[in-house]
Amino acid sequence: MTSPAIDETHDAARTSWIESANGHGCFPIQNLPLGVFSVAGDAPRGGIAIGDSIIDLKALAASQLLQGQAQIAAEAASAPQLNALLEMGAQGRVALRKAVSELLSNADHEARVEPMIIPRSAAAMHLPARIGDYTDFYVGIHHATNIGSLFRPDNPLLPNYKHIPIGYHGRASSIRPSGHLVHHPNGQRKAPEANAPLFGPTQKLDYELELGVWIGPGNELGQPIPIDEASHHIAGLCLLNDWSARDFQAWEYQPLGPFLAKNFLTTISSWIVTIEALAPFRIPQPARPTGDPRPLPYLWDEADQAQGALALTLEVGLRSQAMAAAGMHAHRIGRGPASNMYWTIAQMVAHHSCNGCNLQPGDLLGTGTISAATSDGLGSLMEITRNGSAPIELPTGESRAFLEGGDELTLTAICQADGFVSIGFGECTGIIHDGAVAP
Ligand code: CA
Repeated sequence: MTSPAIDETHDAARTSWIESANGHGCFPIQNLPLGVFSVAGDAPRGGIAIGDSIIDLKALAASQLLQGQAQIAAEAASAPQLNALLEMGAQGRVALRKAVSELLSNADHEARVEPMIIPRSAAAMHLPARIGDYTDFYVGIHHATNIGSLFRPDNPLLPNYKHIPIGYHGRASSIRPSGHLVHHPNGQRKAPEANAPLFGPTQKLDYELELGVWIGPGNELGQPIPIDEASHHIAGLCLLNDWSARDFQAWEYQPLGPFLAKNFLTTISSWIVTIEALAPFRIPQPARPTGDPRPLPYLWDEADQAQGALALTLEVGLRSQAMAAAGMHAHRIGRGPASNMYWTIAQMVAHHSCNGCNLQPGDLLGTGTISAATSDGLGSLMEITRNGSAPIELPTGESRAFLEGGDELTLTAICQADGFVSIGFGECTGIIHDGAVAP
């Protein structure tokens, strides 16, 4: 995946007249992520996060402060869903980014722009786009090995893994923005030693730490996306939590893979961190271990190998109801780099479309759970507690094998590179409903 240009919008010296943006952990002026918000029940529209605030793109489009592609992009972002903006591709995103960066950094514009600024605390966030299709990959190699060894101790990594970016088609209708309440879903489970399955709430509610990939311009049915053009089709990234019912999964997954263990809810962070904002944080894809097969030519691109991974640190925090009541912060249960992906995002896009399958603006791809090689960087409780056999202890003395009612689970991500201002993704949070029975 070729990287967008580094330009004045990435300049570490650039600051904003919106004071909260300067030194902000996630949304300094170098980030400018895209989202959809509403205030007090009014119509959802596009916005860009800046510090503790949002700039209203619908108001900006009406302001006559923009020209050309930036104006067209802001008009596209005035809708309750950003699909039209995503369809414009890099041209629209870059023009809008440059214009907004100038408006928010140059104090000469403050008087005109200030009325379009809304506190994020006053805004409700919505899904950024209408998600036509959602596909979940499985590119976190340590996760694939760990889970495989729990489900199939003799055969953890199946022979296709190093040849194909493995994935399955997920369920778009049950994707929700950060903050959505999580229930223990009902379903079938069967313990290995049991004679018959049971029906009821999952006993093994888990999370999965993933990145989400937003598709920009799509491809026509029957026309694959070559790997060296994949970057034109990727708009940006978010965090993604693929909530999972492990007991249902173990019983249902053979022979066709995940179904009801996964499709009851997927939570994503509310902001699209654009591929332009991520430009300074591109790093080489880690070399394949000696002896691993070289991918087939349609999955191989030297430029993608040179800069197809991201200097991004992922983190998971868990806070129980008792911890919240005591005013405690979340307890970190995992932290690791996003570079533990065996396949790059461009390889995922090239593979997804190699048979002519058409991706569409606003489609969402999940990377699959990203676990580190070490035990402090695992991306699911299934791995951390070894399928519940080794529960973790929380600072209150409570223990957790899997998630319980009242628990709050939060994913975060930070990008860092020498000479550049760090940017973050915001939060991807879910609170588990305090009651075992699903609606
Ligand atoms: Ca997953």
